[in-house]
Amino acid sequence: MEVVKGVPYFSDTDSKCKGYPYLGKDMETDILIVGGGVDGAILNYYLSQKYDCALVEKGRIGYGCTSCATVLLEYQLDDYAHELKGELTESEIISVYKMGLDSIEKIDKLIKKLGNKCHFTRRPSLLYSDKITDILAIKKEYEFRRKNNFNVEYINEENNTFPFGVKAGIFAPDGGAEFNAYLFTKQLVESSKNQAKIYENTKIEKVEKIDGKFHVFTSFGEKIIASKIVYATGFNFEKFCSPKLCDRFVTYSIVTKPINNLKWRDNALVQDASNPYHYFRLLPDNRVIFGGEDTVFSGEIIDEKTAAKKYVKLEKDLVKMLKKYESRIAVDYAFSGLFGQTKNNLGLIGKSDQKDIYYFTSCGANGIINAVYGAKLIEDLLENEFNALEKVFSPTRYIK
Ligand SMILES: Cc1cc2nc3c(=O)[nH]c(=O)nc-3n(C[C@H](O)[C@H](O)[C@H](O)COP(=O)(O)OP(=O)(O)OC[C@H]3O[C@@H](n4cnc5c(N)ncnc54)[C@H](O)[C@@H]3O)c2cc1C
Repeated sequence: MEVVKGVPYFSDTDSKCKGYPYLGKDMETDILIVGGGVDGAILNYYLSQKYDCALVEKGRIGYGCTSCATVLLEYQLDDYAHELKGELTESEIISVYKMGLDSIEKIDKLIKKLGNKCHFTRRPSLLYSDKITDILAIKKEYEFRRKNNFNVEYINEENNTFPFGVKAGIFAPDGGAEFNAYLFTKQLVESSKNQAKIYENTKIEKVEKIDGKFHVFTSFGEKIIASKIVYATGFNFEKFCSPKLCDRFVTYSIVTKPINNLKWRDNALVQDASNPYHYFRLLPDNRVIFGGEDTVFSGEIIDEKTAAKKYVKLEKDLVKMLKKYESRIAVDYAFSGLFGQTKNNLGLIGKSDQKDIYYFTSCGANGIINAVYGAKLIEDLLENEFNALEKVFSPTRYIK
């Protein structure tokens, strides 16, 4: 199944692509992580410091949905807090927002320790709309965050300094960060290579449980014996995880050529809350990445004709929004990929319905934030420690 279409900017700009061997003989490990996207890489980085781990990827590390991720690392969720009532309690929403801020802090510290090879930068975030009909909902979200002591500023037509129209917006000065998720993934895998066994071009085809151990077979017939398995196979989960667990969408992105002198307030990460929504940010070489226009995924392929129309629409909307820069906007990259969304906006991270099998799939617009917290959650589950967010991330929460 195809999860990416087009050439993503993020992997295309990697001139030194590090490779890893394929598994050529049988092996044994305590924890087997299947999938070498950003989720598998984050989990492997943390678990391999404590456990005997192996990470296997069917293709090249980082070339799944991770290579498309715009990476607006933000603590907010896809839906407004008031829309999540019924799915999450108010105190769970506050805990999840705080978990987002903590995860950004954790990534910052990690990058300081490993060296910044993935263009990591802290950024404010702006959630806004240029439509009068969205003002009430944005005001409500602003009040919710302010009341719960999140650092936010309300933006409207009077105080707007952005080069695009804002009817209502929430500016969070310490609300986010950006990086290249593909490079981050590569960096994490490389820095764990002395602790974990890493294999590329190693596809898991079949799993059997014999005498309490998993016998896992690759497409070339090699066998891995493991005590525990974590599936971090992204949204390609027909084989190892039920597609009913989350809705899947295709999201479309364009990247412009560099636009000199284009900037806005602290180069904030921007999410447009109208419908259809858009998300965008400035890349380090002053290109704009502009995405959105999501469509429901058919379950088989990303339709090329629809994608071509969406890229044209995105370019039109970008030009309309940044009118002043119209003559300098030229699209250099156009690509699309899958992402998953659950009812409570959180990933599918935790125990599956089978003993010693775990799922690790980040979902929604702040999926990577979910994954950073998720690594801690999996560690707690392995150690039989209590974790207050286990229930809201549980992959079995939608299984009746
Ligand atoms: C256009 C776009 C924009 C996005 N923007 C953001 C954003 O701004 N912020 C954010 O946080 N998130 C964003 N996301 C979501 C983010 O990309 C995902 O949450 C994240 O990449 C998921 O990572 P993953 O490792 O689970 O999936 P993937 O990167 O798809 O990795 C899964 C890996 O598993 C491997 N695999 C599958 N089956 C097997 C098998 N049988 N054997 C071995 N290996 C296997 C695949 O080859 C793949 O490499 C965006 C996504 C898209 C498409």
